[in-house]
Amino acid sequence: MAKAVLLTHLKDQDRAKEQIARHPGRFTWFVAADPSVPGAIAGLTQALKDGAIGIGEMKNHTAADAKGMRRVYDLAADHKVPVLIHFQEASPFAAEGTWNSGYRHFDQILKAHKKTTFIGHANFFWASISADVPANLEYPSGPVKLGGLTDRWLADFPNLYGDLSANSGNNALTRDPSFARAFLARHQNKLMFGSDCSCKDGRGTGSGALLPSLKGKCVGRETLARLQEFSSPDVFKKLAWSNAHRVLRLPV
Ligand SMILES: [Zn+2]
Repeated sequence: MAKAVLLTHLKDQDRAKEQIARHPGRFTWFVAADPSVPGAIAGLTQALKDGAIGIGEMKNHTAADAKGMRRVYDLAADHKVPVLIHFQEASPFAAEGTWNSGYRHFDQILKAHKKTTFIGHANFFWASISADVPANLEYPSGPVKLGGLTDRWLADFPNLYGDLSANSGNNALTRDPSFARAFLARHQNKLMFGSDCSCKDGRGTGSGALLPSLKGKCVGRETLARLQEFSSPDVFKKLAWSNAHRVLRLPV
């Protein structure tokens, strides 16, 4: 079934439920909250009982291994739902700060929470396909140096997946096409297309494109085109369809 996932903050859950009811069969939802806020875990728990099929995206100014985050990972395991995390270590927009920091040590979490299904995305997760990650550069360009954390951990940990959405996912595919072809083939069961694109018309209006190569274009559409270009038809089907259905437990 072709459904869009509404990445919903706990406080907006009524809006998500309203849209799901208004457009039958079109949407499903994830729920997110800052676990350091009192009542967040109880709220997330209730939302999962109310039909949310995942937790995320988690995007808070906390460490990825903070105590509250670890409670979220346990909650996801208990409810057999994935948790989507925005990893961002540094930003040229100083006011933004970091989000779920400490990705360099995230293998400890992957080991400690084996029953939790993690989906990584965003700047630092995707910059880390390369062994060299420049400081203060969100979208590194040029050839990927083999041995990056994300590339290794996708191979080493069965509970880590990757969401190729947004400028960061697109950049990971386009900075080094020959790497991208091998990377998609290597992790063909672990990667999935997400749009995370605010484009209103599929032609780039309001798409939030940040990369020069994406200016005036729909980020989601461009990323789908690259996935198609860099993979075989059967792998493309996994990336754009079946992996997400399996991980999100959506009926096909
Ligand atoms: Zn994000």
